[in-house]
Amino acid sequence: MTGETVFGKILLGEIPSDEVFSDDKCLAFRDIQPQAPIHILVIPRKPLKSLLEAQQEDKELLGHLLLVAKKVARNEGLTSWRTVINTGESSGQTVFHLHLHVIGGHELGWPP
Ligand code: AMP
Repeated sequence: MTGETVFGKILLGEIPSDEVFSDDKCLAFRDIQPQAPIHILVIPRKPLKSLLEAQQEDKELLGHLLLVAKKVARNEGLTSWRTVINTGESSGQTVFHLHLHVIGGHELGWPP
């Protein structure tokens, strides 16, 4: 159900977000606790909990999310950035509505 998580509530307009892009399949907004000068989250409108739930039928949606991640990064003027999808609690996932982090704007160490 869309409204179960904080991101679902953002999709429903129940809580505000600093939106940077929206279309019929997804929404992108700034992370409330940015880990870099640019930190944007891209979320599908479809309430997938994580990549674990994604199926073959979501192939086009997942590709779209990646292209939107590129679009928002380029709109911020980035030519170098990191795209992260945490999957499951041990990975650091805290919000169980699939989301892509777009992180950049300064030197990023690797491994993270
Ligand atoms: P993850 O740890 O991969 O699940 O990432 C969740 C991200 O959501 C974290 O970076 C949080 O700072 C961010 N976050 C949580 N609540 C909000 C909110 N209301 N608006 C924007 N970002 C949020």
